[in-house]
Amino acid sequence: KLFNEVQELKGNIRVYCRVRPFLPGQDGKSTAVDYIGENGEILISNPSKQGKDGYRMFKFNKVFNTHVSQAEVFSDIQPLIRSVLDGFNVCIFAYGQTGSGKTYTMSGPGTSKEDWGVNYRALNDLFDISLKRRNTFSYEVEVQMVEIYNEQVRDLLSNDIAQKRLGIWSTSQPNGLVVPDASLIPVKSTSDVLDLMEIGQANRAVGSTALNERSSRSHSILTVHVRGLDVKNGSTSRGCLHLIDLAGSERVERSEATGDRLKEAQHINKSLSALGDVIFALAQKNAHVPYRNSKLTQVLQSSLGGQAKTLMFVQVNPDVESCSETISTLKFAERVS
Ligand code: ADP
Ligand code: MG
Repeated sequence: KLFNEVQELKGNIRVYCRVRPFLPGQDGKSTAVDYIGENGEILISNPSKQGKDGYRMFKFNKVFNTHVSQAEVFSDIQPLIRSVLDGFNVCIFAYGQTGSGKTYTMSGPGTSKEDWGVNYRALNDLFDISLKRRNTFSYEVEVQMVEIYNEQVRDLLSNDIAQKRLGIWSTSQPNGLVVPDASLIPVKSTSDVLDLMEIGQANRAVGSTALNERSSRSHSILTVHVRGLDVKNGSTSRGCLHLIDLAGSERVERSEATGDRLKEAQHINKSLSALGDVIFALAQKNAHVPYRNSKLTQVLQSSLGGQAKTLMFVQVNPDVESCSETISTLKFAERVS
């Protein structure tokens, strides 16, 4: 209910900022986060600038401070997740520089239950609810997992991962939902999902020397399709949840990068700015929404805009040494909120 109120005030796009704590061994570091308010304010200081220019205030729908747990973050977005059962399309993004906590928020630091990020908790919750409603509704859940790297889309759940480069993404369904042409795997329980994630992660590493390196330069998208059948009156619904761990948003200086690294950086740049442009156009209710400028926005097209709901986690590394990167991250998020 609260969520609907927020939606009415703010449209279909929300931005939540999450600040990660310093990690073990980072004790002596100083923070760039000067203040977090009750109403989504966050003040960042940049000590290399003098006076007033050394501070920048931002305001989002909410800011999660360093101590907020995975469970608390999830409970805040639970109504949004559950709306998928009612036929809504939902996109949840994690945006931020490498090391800011995107993967922590979306997947979690491990597979134990307290560690679970948004993706496991979301699926777990969907299974829970469908069990509770089983006398009145029957739900079918299917998942897809893809990676976008250098503007190429790869199916992470295909047996034939090397071959499977997806170019075309338009298997149009009767209701107008565009389903990407990637393996669609039915799942019945959270443990099915955990198994699939493992396969997906393993496939992600194919052809890359260091998984961490690669994963910070590609977007990974977990898509959950839910079909609901009302057993009493036979009516059906179809909702779709996209959970997106974006590539690191750090700017790469032209002078620092060459060859493959430069190419990767250009692709990331292009797709993140295309995403920003799409969400900005939607927030402004522009007639023209430029979906076609990147693979990422093409893949998500049917779930961005219209009745769809979008949530962006903008992730912050508190280290003062990252403050200018943090400010540019927050400026991106401010523009789309
Ligand atoms: P990214 O995916 O943005 O590159 P990670 O999610 O890998 O960043 O996070 C970087 C490091 O910070 C990891 O060691 C992760 O476990 C830790 N971390 C991130 N967010 C939190 C948090 N909220 N609480 C505790 N540790 C965190
Ligand atoms: Mg990551």
